[in-house]
Amino acid sequence: MVVELISVGTEILMGNILNSNTQYLAEKCALLGLDQYYQVTVGDNYGRMMESVKRALHRSDIVILTGGLGPTEDDLTKEVCAEAMEMELVEDPHTRSQLEAFFAGNIYKEIPDPNGMAPGLILEKNGKTAILLPGPPNELYPLFEGQVFPYLERLQQSVLVSRMVKICGYGESQVEDKLLDLIDGQTNPTIATYAKTAEVHIRITARAADYEEGKALVAPVIREIKSRFGNAVYTTDEKTSLEMAVAALLKEKQLTMAAAESCTGGMVAARMVNVSGVSDVFMQGMVTYSNEAKMRLLGVREETLAAYGAVSEETAVQMAEGGAAAAGTDVCVSITGIAGPEGGTPEKPVGLVYMACCVKGKTVVKRYQFKGNRAKIREQSTVKALDLVRLCVLEYENRSDS
Ligand code: ATP
Repeated sequence: MVVELISVGTEILMGNILNSNTQYLAEKCALLGLDQYYQVTVGDNYGRMMESVKRALHRSDIVILTGGLGPTEDDLTKEVCAEAMEMELVEDPHTRSQLEAFFAGNIYKEIPDPNGMAPGLILEKNGKTAILLPGPPNELYPLFEGQVFPYLERLQQSVLVSRMVKICGYGESQVEDKLLDLIDGQTNPTIATYAKTAEVHIRITARAADYEEGKALVAPVIREIKSRFGNAVYTTDEKTSLEMAVAALLKEKQLTMAAAESCTGGMVAARMVNVSGVSDVFMQGMVTYSNEAKMRLLGVREETLAAYGAVSEETAVQMAEGGAAAAGTDVCVSITGIAGPEGGTPEKPVGLVYMACCVKGKTVVKRYQFKGNRAKIREQSTVKALDLVRLCVLEYENRSDS
């Protein structure tokens, strides 16, 4: 089934607002397994809207329009769609009474969906469907999720089961290379890779008659991917972020953690604190930007800084070990690097980052040469540091198990 999205609004054409509705709807439609060949944006103009709607109804089965549903003069979507589908607009007494209640000031008592005043419409005729939705995202999202998504699911008459495998430590092309045979031969399930900052996510999607059948199609592919990437896979659950995986692992192993950060300035700590209930495992973040702070708070030795510099393997190790001692934690991760744009030298260029992770006195240190601007370098460092904690804890536990 083919779906086409039409965004209505001159302000979108002019670049005054970002067309986030189309991104939102396209993602949901992809999740539903609907085919999408065209996305259209049209201004608040009767003739051009009519042309867009007629063309969309001709070449697609379902047309979803957002915007232009309100009560003002330039809100034309209802009128255009009704005329294009040769349907008559009638007044809905229920909606009328809701609007009257709204204007009487009783909105929160009388209107079950208090997000807005422009109700959505679904028009069906001759096998074609037009779905008219309000433009404001805070009105669109609940209406779509509550009513339109289940409606489209029923139209599709099959289910899509989708799982996400999240990987850290490989670039997108490396992931694709390792999965080439699976990707080349894919029909059902399909495999798609998405590059994120220092991570790659792989979506596996199966179409099936029911959920159980879909799950059975997806499961062997997940198993295969996990066997090819091993510990680089940090989750197969779409909702789990890297920091959630780190927090869960620390909880499971009953380890506490601290972070000693220089160039990331607290970003690792902030990511950990994203996780609700993380105070069980995350104890302390130390932002030690100056040499003086590295010495005073983490016990980095003056000679080390003088001999090797703040951005060095030796300093990273002392930051991690000193951080664990200062915070009294089992684990401490440290980061020190040159985020740029200034401060680089031929020996230590911008993007050079050292990080170390100390787990119960056993320290691993890594050197990275990141590309990108200051923000990108700091972001990549943060992700890699979180992943380093995960890998070091797994490694430590493996060793102590055997
Ligand atoms: P209302 O009931 O508020 O009149 P409407 O359905 O008539 O809503 P519009 O008047 O077209 O919608 O747009 C209202 C607001 O919704 C815009 O100013 C904008 O903030 C937001 N909006 C509209 N279309 C989009 C879009 N495609 N992406 C993101 N936001 C949008």
